[in-house]
Amino acid sequence: MSEYWDEKNETMPIEERQADQLKSLQEILKWVYERIPFYRNAFDEKGLKPEDLKSFADLTNYPTTDKNDLRDNYPFGLCAVPIEDVIRIHASSGTTGKPVTGPYTPQDLEDWTECMARNLWAAGLRKNDICQNAYGYGLFTGGLGFHQGAVRLGCTMVPTSAGLTERQLTLMRDFGTTGLFCTPTYALTIAERAEKMGLNIKTWPLKAGVFGAEPWSEAMRLEIENRMGIVAHEAYGLTEMGGPGVAFTCSEHRLHINEDHFFPEIIDPETGNPLPEGKQGELVFTALRRQAMPLVRFRTRDISTLKREKCACGRTLIVMEKITGRFDDMLIISGVNVFPSQVESVIMEFEEMEVHYLLRVRQKGYLSSLAVEVEAKEEVYGGGQEALDNLSEKLYKRIQQVIGIHVPVTIVPYNTIARSEGKAQRVIDEREKK
Ligand code: ADP
Ligand code: ZN
Repeated sequence: MSEYWDEKNETMPIEERQADQLKSLQEILKWVYERIPFYRNAFDEKGLKPEDLKSFADLTNYPTTDKNDLRDNYPFGLCAVPIEDVIRIHASSGTTGKPVTGPYTPQDLEDWTECMARNLWAAGLRKNDICQNAYGYGLFTGGLGFHQGAVRLGCTMVPTSAGLTERQLTLMRDFGTTGLFCTPTYALTIAERAEKMGLNIKTWPLKAGVFGAEPWSEAMRLEIENRMGIVAHEAYGLTEMGGPGVAFTCSEHRLHINEDHFFPEIIDPETGNPLPEGKQGELVFTALRRQAMPLVRFRTRDISTLKREKCACGRTLIVMEKITGRFDDMLIISGVNVFPSQVESVIMEFEEMEVHYLLRVRQKGYLSSLAVEVEAKEEVYGGGQEALDNLSEKLYKRIQQVIGIHVPVTIVPYNTIARSEGKAQRVIDEREKK
């Protein structure tokens, strides 16, 4: 059986792919210019016509689109087709504000399903797998996105949705679930509950997980693999690009972007200037094939790096690095940019600690300061105050060494930080809002 779901599109020679992408870009610019007044005005303002795009470099002349543009045009202002041609509408989780809408034509749903099928196939899932989907069903794209992909593979779908953790475990055991889909933090919540209930998932048929929808460190990925006895794969996506299925991990755990559907760029988040491959910055996507709402140069606010490298899996799809964090979650502490995932990586170096932590941001004069609360494993917490003081001192020093900032660390008892069923909320901003 092939290693690829769609061999042609996943392994196409780069020159051939780039020729296709250029053509798709020209077509999509024309599509939006003719159908979406917002883009027509934005292009006209810059004196640009769709046909002015002759090379990839020309794309940087075109305006970017951001979340505010979507909010200003809520709900259907950026829709390129009449609403009767739309057969589904999703909406974002609203992690950073008012939710944005995502409309789909039948073709959009088909393309999304294919992108998800690639993702799940690359995770090793096949027709004989039993897949439990613990992403929330509903407006959130995670639920139906994964559902459609697994149905396309012919897997046996168990649409549990998020929550009711004990029932997740009962069904997982009784049905012999082999594939699990949810956020990484929910995977850990499930693993932890199993341990509490005295269930050993490692001996169950569960073999693969496909996790995403929030930033997670490589250390956390390994922790999930360890605690569940599975291979942990990843899905990346966003409502504005149609949901999960924008990028997926291969056998080498590299995140490949479905480049025949999404044209990626990296820009400097401060200046908006394009950055070369290999430089870290804000991910920007142009949807190449979407009909209902193809966004041009959409600024994701997600921080990553693009790498055109040969991957042992044989895919020629460009690689993006694991998301370091959302630009909106970036904290500036004593002049140093800090993402929660960096603190997470340090915490995970310590066996004594749980992956449950909170970052509290406070005002200190004109500056912001950061404090970390992190749970210790149950047996460690019971080991006496002196041991805990030593441990928090070690953590404090390690954070200072790795990230370069002074952050007081408080070790809190096991199970005092709220467990998440979806996207975890790691940062609590206690600064006064102006
Ligand atoms: P919201 O912005 O309300 O969370 P979505 O539900 O559309 O909206 O979530 C998309 C966002 O989720 C992405 O922009 C990104 O920040 C985050 N995300 C999705 N998948 C991943 C992933 N694999 N790694 C890191 N972040 C991810
Ligand atoms: Zn690969």
